Amino acid sequence: MEHRKLIIIGSGPAGYTAALYSARANLFPVLYEGFFSGPAGGQLMTTTEVENYPGFPEGVTGPELMDAFRKQCARFGTTLLREDVESVDFSSHPFKVKGKKGEFTADAIIIATGATAKRLEIPGAGDEEFWQKGVTACAICDGAMPIFRNKELYVIGGGDSAVEEATFLTKYGSKVYIVHRREELRASKIMAQRALNHPKIEVLWNSVITKIEGDKVVRSVKIQNVNTKQEIQREAAGVFFAIGHQPNTGFLGGQLELNAQGYIVIKKPGTTYTSVEGVFAAGDVQDPTYRQAITAAGSGCMAAIDAERWLNEKGLGD
Ligand code: NAP
Repeated sequence: MEHRKLIIIGSGPAGYTAALYSARANLFPVLYEGFFSGPAGGQLMTTTEVENYPGFPEGVTGPELMDAFRKQCARFGTTLLREDVESVDFSSHPFKVKGKKGEFTADAIIIATGATAKRLEIPGAGDEEFWQKGVTACAICDGAMPIFRNKELYVIGGGDSAVEEATFLTKYGSKVYIVHRREELRASKIMAQRALNHPKIEVLWNSVITKIEGDKVVRSVKIQNVNTKQEIQREAAGVFFAIGHQPNTGFLGGQLELNAQGYIVIKKPGTTYTSVEGVFAAGDVQDPTYRQAITAAGSGCMAAIDAERWLNEKGLGD
């Protein structure tokens, strides 16, 4: 079994940035990029134009940005493995990390496996249907696309994400409908109020979208009132899922402390320390609040520095 000082699990902005910093600190990291779990590069691989990543005044596509991250960390000696981690063993030190093709031991580990936006299996929302052709799970990433400009947009959900995304979309759409399955929002009062007071936002209570239709892009939605079962068809250019994210922590097998929503708990606020000494977490897997590429990259940098300092403290750095 090969031994490494540091293994990084996850290949979004957090994982690649952690690899860049730790490779430059001569920790010779191995980075598991994932395979069946999704494309190397994480959630940005499913977005088009990224306009809010600093340093790109003209914007950059998500895949281009991630390709640049990947090349940059490879340039400094990161070993990139295109496979998923199947299991980890944090019960003894050095830790064990098992992938499909082999197993490593590691002195320190950074977990940066991100989160997956939840999607609904509505007819019309599938990958081969209108997914990314009007149906998305990230208003902040995709809301500015020309197909949504001055059009009627639908946000599904009733939490903070839904009201925040709906408010954000008012910059682009002519009208934004929040479609919520109950008659009360889950969102915090202040954020809900902001949305409810907005002249361009209307909430469709007790409602669900049952079908998404269109040609090359989304053109209409069918909305059902869950109480009366009455269905109406409405013109629509966009459907945004805002029903929460699922942090990718299944492979941890309960060995790290998670919060009630499944996010890894950071034990020392302002750091990347988890409940197991020597295991650090960065990016969306530990962040239910900001969830941006830039904040993920920032926390990846923090995790690399935390891991390097911890290894040095333990006499494992050289
Ligand atoms: P959330 O609070 O879990 O809300 C998810 C919403 O989606 C709920 O209203 C839920 O309906 C609805 N939903 C779930 N499954 C559904 C389904 N199958 N069909 C239809 N609707 C469904 O998720 P979130 O809004 O992403 O927020 C997650 C966490 O991040 C929260 O702690 C939130 O406060 C935080 N957050 C904070 C900010 C901020 O402070 N700026 C912004 C975004 C998120 P029900 O209400 O009926 O369960």
